[in-house]
Amino acid sequence: MPLALFDLDNTLISRQQLLAPIAEQFCAAHGVDADAAPRVADTFLERTGPEVFARLRSEYGLPEQVTHLWAWYVDAIAAAVDCPVPVLDGLQQLRDCGWTVAVVTNGATDIQTAKLSATGLDQIVDAAVISESVGIRKPDPAIFRAAAARCGKPLAGGWMTGDNPDTDISGAHGVGLRAIWIAAGRTWTHDAPPAEHTADDALAAITHLLTL
Ligand SMILES: [Mg+2]
Repeated sequence: MPLALFDLDNTLISRQQLLAPIAEQFCAAHGVDADAAPRVADTFLERTGPEVFARLRSEYGLPEQVTHLWAWYVDAIAAAVDCPVPVLDGLQQLRDCGWTVAVVTNGATDIQTAKLSATGLDQIVDAAVISESVGIRKPDPAIFRAAAARCGKPLAGGWMTGDNPDTDISGAHGVGLRAIWIAAGRTWTHDAPPAEHTADDALAAITHLLTL
């Protein structure tokens, strides 16, 4: 059976939903006016890493070191993140059917590792490739090749599931993978070829793979 690669954020876990409550907690924990929480949440919405906290630190005159603020955020995300049990079960079922399952995610090593561990995904998947760890980001073909190599499987015949049209879907097509787009209510308006299959969420994507 082939490879089944999955994106992490807003595919296997809902990152977006975490940000508003964590921004509120951040403001409360660091003496930032609660009115600033939506703006802080918007800041988190971008690619988050320590550099984001350097910006928040200077903007709000926070006394803590950037490394402490970043560590606070990693812990807060790890405490809040959750992967639905049916998704965890579905991934296990894929493996039981002989698929090799891996996560391919863009992000910082410490936070993506914390999410994989807190959700239990690290116990289920065969491999997880994090962009910062390998120094390559999706849609670079090399990160998909790295995932395949780590699994000891060819990319040929494999599938990639993700929510991002560029990094996930075009990235997958760039190495000959077939793709499932997590549409989450959106329609495909991109010039690039659409995914071979569209699903509302990760569970529907897994269910599709199990029918193949
Ligand atoms: Mg994503």
